[in-house]
Amino acid sequence: MANHLFDLVRLYGTDATKTFIETEDGTRFTYDDLFAATGRFANALVASGVKPGDRVAVQVEKSPGAIFLYLACVRAGAVFLPLNTGYTLAEIEYFLSDAEPAMVVCDPARRDGVAEVAARTGVPAVETLGRAKDGSLWQKANAQQPVFDSVARGADDLAAILYTSGTTGRSKGAMLTHDNLASNALTLKDYWNFTRDDVLLHALPIFHTHGLFVATNTILMAGATMLFLPKFDADKVFELMPRATTMMGVPTFYVRLVQDARLTPGTTRHMRLFISGSAPLLAETHRAFREKTGQAILERYGMTETNMNTSNPYEGERIAGTVGFPLPGVELRVTDPETGAPVARGEIGMIEVKGPNVFKGYWRMPEKTAAEFREDGFFITGDLGKIDENGYVHIVGRGKDLVISGGYNVYPKEVETEIDGMAGVFESAVIGVPHPDFGEGVTAVVVPTPGAKLDEGAILSALETRLAKFKLPKRVIVVEDLPRNTMGKVQKNVLRETYKGIYGG
Ligand code: ATP
Ligand code: MG
Repeated sequence: MANHLFDLVRLYGTDATKTFIETEDGTRFTYDDLFAATGRFANALVASGVKPGDRVAVQVEKSPGAIFLYLACVRAGAVFLPLNTGYTLAEIEYFLSDAEPAMVVCDPARRDGVAEVAARTGVPAVETLGRAKDGSLWQKANAQQPVFDSVARGADDLAAILYTSGTTGRSKGAMLTHDNLASNALTLKDYWNFTRDDVLLHALPIFHTHGLFVATNTILMAGATMLFLPKFDADKVFELMPRATTMMGVPTFYVRLVQDARLTPGTTRHMRLFISGSAPLLAETHRAFREKTGQAILERYGMTETNMNTSNPYEGERIAGTVGFPLPGVELRVTDPETGAPVARGEIGMIEVKGPNVFKGYWRMPEKTAAEFREDGFFITGDLGKIDENGYVHIVGRGKDLVISGGYNVYPKEVETEIDGMAGVFESAVIGVPHPDFGEGVTAVVVPTPGAKLDEGAILSALETRLAKFKLPKRVIVVEDLPRNTMGKVQKNVLRETYKGIYGG
């Protein structure tokens, strides 16, 4: 029977002896193992009462088993619902009561706490992923047959609910269909030239769209290999790099790599592609990486709700500070946030996208879903950006981070770019903080490079010659670090909360 996403995995994973996942210690799982393991896991899910359409909430550390469980849910017609491993029991309680899954799967160490939360929220089944011999799903799966007749699922049926990162507020459940995931993975495979010979160095978490869908699904569609690291660790990355051909990372990975003396043309020569996404890659990181390796990092842009929207070209020029072109099949336009009318080329506005990559809506939030879609089907991303004369898309920040000071729009990125270019500055975040005279006061939070001493007055006077007065920070605050979430995204809402009282009132 046809199962849209899994049939494609079968179609492309034709070489049964080819390695699908290899772990740090050299353990290999082939495509044959993948088909057998997902069959066994799917049988175990069904035996535990999971029915087509049911949600299966999963909060487990990264492992090949977690990937098999994801694909087993797809095969069983269930809806895979991964949860950030950093979430506390109190946070999980919110997600379980919101999603009402038929089963929750956790790591053995968390079993008691999760079982209590499950009992309170009415989740009938609690399983651990664990190992082969501890009563976990692995053991139950091993007792099952490897053969499973995949449940019929069409292109438009749900494959997953993935909660957004919660960078700007409470996470929302994005409903993703089989075709949202499959079509985007096929597009990325072709756009980035993935073939069966590729080995992806995978150091990302797998509860987020980046490590789970962009990385895993693209590899599946190419019938290629993933080399799993539990998390980013520069020593391990350099140790494993000789076995890889490509890497996907968040900007913080690349910041650490460029600071490392081991990053040379020699250590990276056999790598054909380094991809960055999930947050803006500093132009400085792009430049330093190129200088040290001769290779340009390829930056792309996407979100939980839309999968990937744009990418810098594989063959053409990868331009720092841009996210490249809309991917084939993705329509992208920039509109006036107030009127919704398209703006002129080069002007900043709201980025809207449409295509098979765009989700079905927010789980149990029909009003929010309706508010975020235009009548002609475009999704309003919430990101501000522009398209330049060569067609490259630039992200200038989130609509929610726009600062309105004295009635003027101030785009934080413009101010940040000026500050980041100054000697002794590592990075900066510009936010709006309540101000009695201006409504919001432009406020710069600045991190110095190691060992540098920053003078707030000097930063301000340097900015005075470069920016209009209304864009100038009212205060410059020097800090050691910016608050970031697990994907390396700067949490501006945390900064706004921290500094909300500094102008009084
Ligand atoms: P929430 O929606 O819960 O506030 P979030 O938007 O951070 O969290 P994700 O879906 O993980 O959740 O992140 C998508 C966002 O990440 C995009 O909307 C965009 O703001 C940002 N982003 C992703 N890639 C890039 C990039 N290359 N450059 C700039 N921003 C990016
Ligand atoms: Mg978002």
